[in-house]
This record gives sequence, structure tokens and C-alpha cells, in this order.
Amino acid sequence: MSGSGYAILSSARGTRTSGIPPPGDRGAMSTLSQPESNSERGVADVERAKWRATYSATLGQVLATPAADVRDSAERLSGLVRAGLLKFSDLRENPDRFFEAHRLLVNHGFEQGPGFSIRFTVEYNLFAGTVLELGGPAHLAALERMQADGTLGCFALTERLAGVNSGLVVQTTATWLPEEARFLLRTPHDGACKNWISQGLTATKAVVVADLITRGTSRGPHAFLVDLRDAHGNPTPGVVLGDMGEKTTGNDLDNANIRFDDVWLARETLLDRHCDVTPAGDYTHRGGEVLSNMELIGQRLFTGRVAVAQGAHEFRRRLFRRTRSHNDAKPCWAPGGGSHSAKTTVMLSAVPQLRALYAEADASEARMSAFLAAVEAALCNVLRRGERPSAALVEAVAAAKVKAVDEAIDFCHRLRQEVGSYALMAGTGFEHTDFLQCCKFAEGDSRILMMKVARDRVKSVAAAKQAERPVPDGMSPREAAAAAELARGLSASAARGVKPAEAWEEHWVNAYALAAVAIENIVTRWVGGPGAFTQSTWRSQAASKL
Ligand SMILES: Cc1cc2nc3c(=O)[nH]c(=O)nc-3n(C[C@H](O)[C@H](O)[C@H](O)COP(=O)(O)OP(=O)(O)OC[C@H]3O[C@@H](n4cnc5c(N)ncnc54)[C@H](O)[C@@H]3O)c2cc1C
Repeated sequence: MSGSGYAILSSARGTRTSGIPPPGDRGAMSTLSQPESNSERGVADVERAKWRATYSATLGQVLATPAADVRDSAERLSGLVRAGLLKFSDLRENPDRFFEAHRLLVNHGFEQGPGFSIRFTVEYNLFAGTVLELGGPAHLAALERMQADGTLGCFALTERLAGVNSGLVVQTTATWLPEEARFLLRTPHDGACKNWISQGLTATKAVVVADLITRGTSRGPHAFLVDLRDAHGNPTPGVVLGDMGEKTTGNDLDNANIRFDDVWLARETLLDRHCDVTPAGDYTHRGGEVLSNMELIGQRLFTGRVAVAQGAHEFRRRLFRRTRSHNDAKPCWAPGGGSHSAKTTVMLSAVPQLRALYAEADASEARMSAFLAAVEAALCNVLRRGERPSAALVEAVAAAKVKAVDEAIDFCHRLRQEVGSYALMAGTGFEHTDFLQCCKFAEGDSRILMMKVARDRVKSVAAAKQAERPVPDGMSPREAAAAAELARGLSASAARGVKPAEAWEEHWVNAYALAAVAIENIVTRWVGGPGAFTQSTWRSQAASKL
């Protein structure tokens, strides 16, 4: 996953239908990414298994030892890209492979922390994925060459001042100067400096998001494919790179701040599948795409959100399995289990609070696994068809990201509290739990996504009221009640003359509470409530029965 968190929320406006079945139709959802006949499915399964085996073996070699430094780590990724086992174009042509590659990486890279996984997803999803989405034929041809050469790229969106609101706020400018027939890329002040850019110190290319200005008019955020370095590794004139410094985890990943001190860009650097700038400086749209350019850039954040959700979920699964195997074999004394002189009476995992935690975690893990698989299948279906996700799918993706990360943080934290000194030991995985922190703001900060869910619910309540319907479609009674309460609070604030933005601030507690209920309801609509997932795999006996 990437550590980037951007404020692009929904791109469902005016799009074609995604073809996802209505929420609740679990049978239909589970078949979304399946080939049509049994024999086709058999062939696809065999191919997938072969690919998985080869890819896993390669990952095993690439990650056999910890990287010596960021350059070593970058070279390993470059080799993996060159090997071509996962193609940049798989994001469109084999999206299920793209997601599985991310999941396998979290498992293989568990001991070494999240640095390589972040590097990987930045390369494949944010960098190459954005070129795939926004690039014209020449850019796509260049991307193929980059795969063959193992070229590394980064994705420079976040700016120092904008933080999690990056996308909404982009102050780096790319101004078209007809007399020069080039763009001038500029960081106008320190707050507009690109910040935290993963792989920024080792990449030779960058997708840079800047406000495009033509004829003195801002055209909004656009993406440019920029050379960060020349063939000798020297930064392009005007590109000033700084190191973000040491992190609590993932230090095999380089993170850069980048300033553009008047960098000249050729006209061809604009990723121009959906727009163009004529030599005279006229801005035009191509191909009838109804989304704004920032919404198009944001398409990669949907795939990124699913990858982040899966990354957090895989991390949690792995941490729980590893810890449990230790706890299952760790003898300790417990009252009622033996005499004072007994050397062992019980295994640690059998103490009541851990038994309860493991049972609860198993059930919630099973539910989240089912939800993530369903969302991934629906998104893969949309990607393969070259469509845009529907509003319902965009919301399910956001729910997956928020809930999978929150559950992972919650369960890993609770596990840490219960396993004594084990949680302090290096090599257990507990030292990398800050990875989950990255997941929280990566590819759309969870708070920002939740606020969007709450706003949509309040709008639905208003629409239902106008249509004289008691409960908006798809809402549970609890959700509708929470939305109505928030709407009442906002109205009361408005009646006192409070402006809308301030009113939302006043009612922030109820807004996040509503979002949490709504997200829980989305998961239930897709895969069923917690009651459907009580089948724990937990088999140990209680300490008192040993
Ligand atoms: C390891 C790592 C890798 C990264 N890789 C990339 C990359 O490759 N490319 C890239 O472009 N960026 C990247 N980023 C940047 C990342 O997107 C930002 O760091 C992230 O968005 C958080 O920004 P910030 O720390 O400035 O948070 P801030 O903007 O300061 O926000 C801090 C917290 O405040 C809350 N908050 C802020 N504003 C609001 C609001 N309006 N409403 C409600 N809550 C709010 C949120 O909960 C947020 O988590 C990376 C970051 C890290 C740490």
C-alpha cells in the first residue's frame, strides 16, 4: 500500500453503470469475476495457481534478506518490474492478479516491515496506474518500455500545506507558455512543496500533479509525466529533492520532499488521454469524458483503497496467526490448573481473555475477508470492462478501507495488551504496527471518507423527507435515526445563523457516529451481519478444563 492520503472522494457522477448487483445479492457478487463455464474456470484456476507459485517464489528470493538501504530496496523492485510477472497493464487486464500480488507481498514482506509494499503499490498503482488511466498512446508505449527497463516512478500529489486534503488543494503550478512551447513547473511557496513522496529519492520518473494554467486561467489539477533524473542519476535542473528522514517503520523506503524551481516540461509530458493544450494555449477536452481531471486521477485511489484495506487485513491476519502459534506453545501457570510446584499448567492462548479475543477476532476476520473479496470482485469486474465504478461501489470501497483498517488497528492493539513481553520482541511483527497508521491516511484519509459518508446520509434523509418517505432507501432504522438526529442538529445550528461548515464542526461527534453506523450497514448489506460469521476456528480448551 501507499502511504498517500488524498481527498478524492467519489467519481461516480455521470458514469455508466458498473453492473454490480444490488447490495445484498451475495450469490451474484461472488460470481462477478468468474469465467463463464466450468472448463474456462478450471483453466483460469490452473493458470492462476501457476502464476501464484512463480510469483511467490520470486518474492521469496527478492525478500530473502532485509534490504541494506533504500537503493538496494529500489533495485530489488526494479528487478521485479523487469521480470514482468506482474505487468503494469494487469491493473486493467488482470486486476485480480494485481490485487493478489499486493496481498502476497504483505505476507512475504511481513518480517521486513511495510517499506517494500509501499514502494510496490506506488510503482504499480499510483505511478503506472495513473499513466495507464490518463496517458495517451505515446505514454502507454513509454510505459511498456519502462516495464522492460525496470524504470522506477513516483507519484507526487501531496503538498505540505494540503496534507490529507491534497487533491482538493493543489498549489504547484504548470503554466503553458506559448512563446516557449513548454510548460513551466513551479512550487510557488514552501507550503506547496510536494511532501512524503514515496520512492522520490530513487525514482527516475514522476507523475506530478499540478494546477494547469493556460491563457492565465487555472484548469485544475492535471498529471504530468516528468523526468526527475537524467541517465546519470542527476536531478533534472530545477528539481530539488529532500529526505523526509527516519520513520518509525519502513525505512527501506525513501520518502522525499520535492520542490520545483522552474522546471521546463515538454508539451508531451501532459498526460493527455482526456484533454489537450494546443500550441497557442487553448485547453480542450477529448473523448466525451464527463469526469474532472482530478476525478480521473482519483480512479487510482479506488484500486489503492482496496489494496490498502487488504494490506491492513493481511497484516492483521498474519500478526494474529504468528502470535497465536507462539501463545499455543507458551506454557504459563494459572490458578486452578495445577499445584504451586507444577512447571506448566496451561498454554498462554488458553487464558480466558486471549481465548475470547481470538474467538472474536476469528469471526470478525472471516466477515472482513468475505467483504473485501466481494468488493474486490466487483471492482475487478468494472476495471476489466473499462467502466467507472457506480456510486454504490465507490462507497463500498470507502467502507472497506475505513473498516478494514480500523478493525486491524483495534485488534492488533488489543492483542498487544494481552501477550506480555512477546509484544516487545523484535521479529514478532508488533514492531511494524505503525504500518496500520499509514493505512489510515493512505489513499483517502479515513476521517475524510467518513465525513463524506455522513454528508451523503444527511442528503438522503432530506430527499426522503421531501418525497414523504419515512426511511431513505437502503438505510437501516438505526442508521436513519442517526442521520435524522444529525440533520436536526445541523438545522438547529443553521437556525442560530451558524454557517454550514461550522455547523458540521459543531456536530462532528454525531457525524462520525453516523458514518460508523452507515459503514457497518454497508458491510451487512454486502455480506451479512456479524451473526453470520460466528464460526470461529478457535479450538483450544478453557484453562479450567485442562
Ligand atoms: C510513508 C508515507 C508514504 C507516502 N507516500 C506518498 C506518495 O507516494 N505520494 C504522495 O503524494 N503522498 C504520499 N504520502 C503523503 C500522505 O498522503 C500524507 O502524509 C497524508 O495525506 C497525511 O498528511 P499529513 O500528515 O500532512 O496530515 P494532515 O493533513 O496534517 O492531517 C492529519 C490528520 O488530521 C485529520 N484531518 C486533517 N484535515 C482534516 C479535515 N479537513 N477534516 C477532518 N479531518 C482532518 C485527519 O484525520 C488526518 O489524519 C505519504 C505519507 C507517508 C507517511
